[in-house]
Amino acid sequence: MPVRYFDVHCHLVRKEIVDFGYTEAELTEIVAGLERERIGVLTLTTDAATIADLRQLPTSDCILAGVGFHPTDIAGFDLQQVGAALSQPRVIAIGEIGLDDYRVLETERRAVLEQQLEVFTAQLQLAKTRNLPVSVHLRGSAEVFVLAETTLRQLASLPPVNLHFFTGDTAMALRCVELGCFFSFGGIIFRDEGVRDILRALPLERLLSETDSPFVHPTERGAKNTPLTIPTIVAEMERIRGEALQQQLVINASNYLNLPLP
Ligand SMILES: [Zn+2]
Repeated sequence: MPVRYFDVHCHLVRKEIVDFGYTEAELTEIVAGLERERIGVLTLTTDAATIADLRQLPTSDCILAGVGFHPTDIAGFDLQQVGAALSQPRVIAIGEIGLDDYRVLETERRAVLEQQLEVFTAQLQLAKTRNLPVSVHLRGSAEVFVLAETTLRQLASLPPVNLHFFTGDTAMALRCVELGCFFSFGGIIFRDEGVRDILRALPLERLLSETDSPFVHPTERGAKNTPLTIPTIVAEMERIRGEALQQQLVINASNYLNLPLP
């Protein structure tokens, strides 16, 4: 189905799986909304439970999925589970994966980052072998961004990589542009000038839109978000950049996800 918007990073997860997830009724309503508004989504997993939950999600042409272990959920990391989930219908990407030392004690940071890097690299290698798009989460110290950039550079040639919710500096973002990375922007653009600066600095063809729902509601802080807020986010991206983006963002999503152009 040709879509008008693409949310390349969200979590359509049931309430029984994650505290901030959706009830069955909410999920049904969201899927009806996606089809009515013609919004495509890439829903991502974070751990073994959310990977298993993918099988229970409503089926829709609007919903594609990525599988992976989030850096703060690597305790039960199982590369075989990720590989096996790739054979499910609609699963076309790896994510979300990455590095995160945001809430890590300084005394534990070295060991935690080493473990995360191992898991991140294993999942990136899998994506590279299968040539699958990747959704990357980076959060915390400057070292997180340097480590990620070095890892991606060493891996060249890369599969399509999206650095979602990018909060590094503009210079680092531009280094990652050289590597071919995409960048998805969500509700944070309503409240963070640093992220707005990055959005203005990047080439048009590397921009993507995301909601990161059920987190990061764009306008009602703390409220539960859904992928149906993507038009609000795209309108704000257009205002910040001072140019029309809606169609280009769908074309960019097709390029990132290796999908036929709309
Ligand atoms: Zn996420």
